[in-house]
Amino acid sequence: MHAPLPSVAVPAAIGELNWTHRLAALGPRFYTELPPAGLPDPHWVATSADCARLLGWPATGWQTPEALRVFSGNALWPGMRPLASVYSGHQFGVWAGQLGDGRALWLGELDTPQGPMELQLKGAGRTPYSRMGDGRAVLRSSIREFLASEAMAALGIPTTRALALTASTALPVRRETTETAAIVTRVAPSFLRFGHVEHFAHHGLHDELRELVQHLIEHHAPQCQAAPQPVVALLAQVATQTADLLAHWQAVGFCHGVMNTDNMSLLGLSIDYGPYGFLDGFDPGHVCNHSDTQGRYAFARQPQVAYWNLHALAQALLPLIPGDEEAAAALLREALQAYPDRFAQAMLLRMRAKLGLREARDGDGALVDDWLRLLAATRVDYSIAHRRLGEAQLPAGAEGLRDLFLDREALDAWLRRYRDRLAQEPEDPAQRRAAMHAVNPAVVLRNHLAETAIRQAEAGDFGEVQRLLDVLRRPFDAPERAADADFPPDWAQHIEVSCSS
Ligand code: AMP
Ligand code: MG
Repeated sequence: MHAPLPSVAVPAAIGELNWTHRLAALGPRFYTELPPAGLPDPHWVATSADCARLLGWPATGWQTPEALRVFSGNALWPGMRPLASVYSGHQFGVWAGQLGDGRALWLGELDTPQGPMELQLKGAGRTPYSRMGDGRAVLRSSIREFLASEAMAALGIPTTRALALTASTALPVRRETTETAAIVTRVAPSFLRFGHVEHFAHHGLHDELRELVQHLIEHHAPQCQAAPQPVVALLAQVATQTADLLAHWQAVGFCHGVMNTDNMSLLGLSIDYGPYGFLDGFDPGHVCNHSDTQGRYAFARQPQVAYWNLHALAQALLPLIPGDEEAAAALLREALQAYPDRFAQAMLLRMRAKLGLREARDGDGALVDDWLRLLAATRVDYSIAHRRLGEAQLPAGAEGLRDLFLDREALDAWLRRYRDRLAQEPEDPAQRRAAMHAVNPAVVLRNHLAETAIRQAEAGDFGEVQRLLDVLRRPFDAPERAADADFPPDWAQHIEVSCSS
């Protein structure tokens, strides 16, 4: 038995908190209840004012010594009920068996102005699902998860959020080297993954499977209840949300790195930030995860991988469709068709916006494809190219763009087509430039930016984490420090990120 954790007071700045436990209500076949194993002698690394506001809290004033104990896994607020959930999944295309929350603990669902929000501590010690792992997370990868969560949200991309980051130098964690232990507090309407559904289907636990899917429909997809086949409608909804998510990822140049089915949110959120990366030079074959030697999760393959993962989800839902299995499979296949259709649509929508095209015309797809081909030919920096395409709307503004390309003739040929196409648009160039700058970020969380913050934090200085968070909150504004929006330095080529976190 675990000793119960001390209960501490909620900070006065927050006021009263109301918790619900809809996941816990599913019963113990879905999870194991256990308290966090806290960080000794913890300290704050950073907190997110935006995430606090999402919960209905003030930006500051809640970071009390008692709150530090809670967010470092050493105490609980009244009403919290920590548990680790069980899930399974396909990893790198093969069935991996039981996985589960090996180092994440759910604290419960908090009533917020946005509805119930689940809180999780990631890195709070071993659980029955830890397998060979130590239940810990290191400061390096926790900073990456913390910053990415908030950066993606600021870009308007569906994602789990990060409220707080705490760490301890008194608990060495062994990876390739000895590192600092940390805990990220994550926030999301739901942390349920494809792998949760797969778990119960794979083990033939069809009653539990039904209860889980019922929970999802009731709390996260209530409009599916009225459909003739609510489970089929749920699959179509997940497919649609996943298509929208992937269009966001591809349009902003985000590479997830580990798109296993246990890392796929049933709500279409970006989840589990590990060896992710934002593209520097545009390379469709870019593999951001050093451990992905086959390139299964290469940037350009992500949309197809998501579709593959949705098939695994559909397979797991099959036992819930009444009637003949052939007919049930046909219904699910039809629901899956929502994915390719929606992805193509959403992608074109996003790329049109990035190019400043307000109206839809035949031939826009080809114009976009040829632009991307041009970028890929000499790996032109993806984010900088789009910002400079915005600048190119102004008279004599194209010089910065032209500087990026070796093959100027090819660029000029494309620009002639582009300008002919722009001539059919009602907007004036200054308006168009502003509209483009509102969708093409000036700053993305490139590896070298995160790495600089990590190195300083590992040396005990957390100023750069907080500064970077502040810049990433406003990714469409030109940053005060020009280097934040600039090309990666040469040393960035040598940064390796892998599954070890
Ligand atoms: P990931 O590749 O990070 O999505 O993790 C895959 C599985 O391994 C999940 O079940 C995680 O909970 C588990 N896991 C990863 N790292 C650790 C760790 N340090 N300790 C325990 N479990 C872990
Ligand atoms: Mg994971």
